[in-house]
Amino acid sequence: MWTQAVDLHCHSHHSDGLWSPSEMAKRAHDAGVKVWSLTDHDTNTGWDEAADACSELGIRFIPGVEITCAVEMTSETSDSTSWHLLAYFPEGCSPEFTSWLESFKDSRVPRMKSMLSALAELGHQIPFEDVAKFAEGSIGRPHLARAMIEHGIVETMQQAFDDWIGDSGPAFRERPLPTIAEAVEMVHSSGGITSLAHPGYYGIPSDELVQRLVTLGVDCIEAVHGSHPDSLRFELMQYALPTSVGGDSHGTEKRPSPGKMPVPLKHLHRCFHP
Ligand code: AMP
Ligand code: FE
Ligand code: FE
Ligand code: ZN
Repeated sequence: MWTQAVDLHCHSHHSDGLWSPSEMAKRAHDAGVKVWSLTDHDTNTGWDEAADACSELGIRFIPGVEITCAVEMTSETSDSTSWHLLAYFPEGCSPEFTSWLESFKDSRVPRMKSMLSALAELGHQIPFEDVAKFAEGSIGRPHLARAMIEHGIVETMQQAFDDWIGDSGPAFRERPLPTIAEAVEMVHSSGGITSLAHPGYYGIPSDELVQRLVTLGVDCIEAVHGSHPDSLRFELMQYALPTSVGGDSHGTEKRPSPGKMPVPLKHLHRCFHP
């Protein structure tokens, strides 16, 4: 038995997605999704709108967040500067979690200002407000890239990352990140469960990775991710760790809508069954 009625990884304009939470909910519904989660980066400000849209559409909404965490294991084949932990709250979420999240969201503001100072020193002045106007929830580099286009500094988002604000760019600045262990503890004490997002990104052999996740108390692994080849999906589903499934739609051309992600029910964590 398998299903493609579940998609638990999706972004709205509350982080780096193109569409509103309700537009994404509608796209999920139209693609046949019955259990859906909005997992904006480091913010839950889209939950209310998403939940309302889902109840109107008659699909189940699971509140989610994709938490940017510090790198847990270094790899020679991956230059990831963060690991992404998905948090889900099928039974609701305590207010402490929101405060914890806000503390990281708030730290994005001084970090953005420091990136703007770096750009100014390199000859490109952009007022903070010109970036902030693109950000509905947590302000980040995609918003800066859009402001850079508007100011005529670059022509495309990609050029902004390649030349200026990519992880090794001259105007890139780090921001404070929780460890995976800290995030897991916070999510568990707030009533949620966790899944390691897109495990194929980190360049760690599957057996070592799964072993570490189990030690850390991570509940699931996102074996079925939009970017993973089938070979990796099946490999990761061989372990005892339950699976989550995520298209990681941002509303952009490559994957405009959630859904159409088949997953075997026996591997899918029981919280997410349709
Ligand atoms: P931030 O959380 O502010 O560091 O921004 C991270 C986001 O920027 C990611 O989720 C991507 O959407 C985007 N991003 C990061 N690196 C690149 C890149 N090299 N090219 C295009 N987009 C990128
Ligand atoms: Fe993203
Ligand atoms: Fe991610
Ligand atoms: Zn994502």
